Amino acid sequence: MDSTRKYAFTWSLLGDIEAGRPNLGPNLRMEVYRLMQFCFRDVLEQHYGAAETDRLFYEAGTLAGREFYKNAFESKPETFNTLILELQKKLKELGMAILRVEETDLENLQFTLTMAEDLDCSGLPELGYEVCVYDEGFLSGILEEFTGRPFKVREVDCWCTSERTCRFEARPSESSLETFPETQRAG
Ligand SMILES: [Zn+2]
Repeated sequence: MDSTRKYAFTWSLLGDIEAGRPNLGPNLRMEVYRLMQFCFRDVLEQHYGAAETDRLFYEAGTLAGREFYKNAFESKPETFNTLILELQKKLKELGMAILRVEETDLENLQFTLTMAEDLDCSGLPELGYEVCVYDEGFLSGILEEFTGRPFKVREVDCWCTSERTCRFEARPSESSLETFPETQRAG
């Protein structure tokens, strides 16, 4: 591990929530999550521009997806179907999203997934562009850990583009964190 790092992520950083919040418990209101996420995005954009901000959110999502995969399941899913069933259960239990699979091409590892009632965009004003970059990364991290291959995930429909669910296309990529086309985020 890099000893110069101050903020390297470990799952233990999530802490003992039961001990730490005996009165408030593990839940918080959606506004709090969105307040933090959208303020982070605002400040990052001012410092680094929109494209770099998206890249950073994607990368953070990928890290989160990888760590989630390694830590959130009691045992590692053995098949894609088991993975999806376990994920559906876990994401619902955590109040993260309602996950569905629309298309599965196991031979080419290409998938179309939807996440409804998600944390990042459900109920937002219509913006004309997709906003769930963190979720793209999150799904890519999970798929990378599951398959052992780099993945690229791109959101093709979003609450913010007037859909009522977020839709993601996933496929293997040349390298991890391969960037999506810059033009995608024009808005
Ligand atoms: Zn979305």
